[in-house]
Amino acid sequence: MKTITLIVPCYNEQESINLFYETVEKVFNSMNQEKENYRPDYLFVNDGSSDNTLSVLHELNQKDPENVHLISFSRNFGKESAIAAGLRNAHGDFVALMDVDLQDPPELLPQMLKIIETENYDCVGCVQTSRKQNPVRAFLSSSFYHVIDYLSSVNIKPNVRDYRLMSRQYVDAVNDLTEYNRFSKGIFSWIGFDTKYIEYKGRDRAAGETHWSLFQLLDYSIEGIIDFSDAPLKLATLVGIISCICAVIGIIFITIRALIFGGAVAGWPSLVSIMLLIGGLQLFCLGILGKYIGKVYLETKHRPQYIIKEHK
Ligand code: UDP
Ligand code: MG
Repeated sequence: MKTITLIVPCYNEQESINLFYETVEKVFNSMNQEKENYRPDYLFVNDGSSDNTLSVLHELNQKDPENVHLISFSRNFGKESAIAAGLRNAHGDFVALMDVDLQDPPELLPQMLKIIETENYDCVGCVQTSRKQNPVRAFLSSSFYHVIDYLSSVNIKPNVRDYRLMSRQYVDAVNDLTEYNRFSKGIFSWIGFDTKYIEYKGRDRAAGETHWSLFQLLDYSIEGIIDFSDAPLKLATLVGIISCICAVIGIIFITIRALIFGGAVAGWPSLVSIMLLIGGLQLFCLGILGKYIGKVYLETKHRPQYIIKEHK
């Protein structure tokens, strides 16, 4: 009998938890019909919810104390921290990462298990096709994948979800990366191993609402790029070099013109515009530099990524 730890981050998900549990139970029951093969080991991570998520989890834990475990944070630390806590405390033979809102269909688990057990893959990921999405959101997210693919050494497949099934060895490798700024999609790609992607048709949440605003998604993308690429720093250097070249050309032009036509004092509006432009470019480059320094600052503080208040 093999144990599959299901890491489930929950943030204000009181309506979804029981539904999730029942659906997964059904999937495991039908998988185990012939012979007892797999045991689900639920690891719910309550990410500082302000609704009744924790009490729903307590009830579930009392109902099924052997299989349902929970970690509760002292406040909201974000999904990345919940994933990190889950991975460090997952002890199953296989580990799956799932959203509680049933957007990651548990019905795919048997197929994923089969792939990982018979086809020699270390990880099976899920790619979502055709989900009804706001067109602006869809455009921004597809541009993000192109940009990060182009700028960094990590390769992230477009529309890949966090939903994945991992082998023990794979999870141990992820846990070896102790960075504070965690962008798990990048980490999964960075550690290597063989990952197979399966496709499924995206669906809407079973209950509740998404926690991501457009602005948060944008911020998440920028963080991801900065965590895995130094291309923006190179861009800053490039901008500096180009403006220097323009300046040299300008100086040569002005000198020759002055020599031929004599000196002229006119032209302060253009001078002011150029000064503003260069000042702006400098601030832009300083901003990029600042982003990286901020990351270094956070890393060197060695703060924990999360604080666990309760572990059952
Ligand atoms: N989540 C979390 N902490 C947060 C935000 C979200 O643990 O700060 C969890 C949430 O409960 C859900 C999963 O992360 O299980 C995905 O969140 P959501 O469904 O809002 O994102 P989407 O599916 O829209 O990308
Ligand atoms: Mg969701």
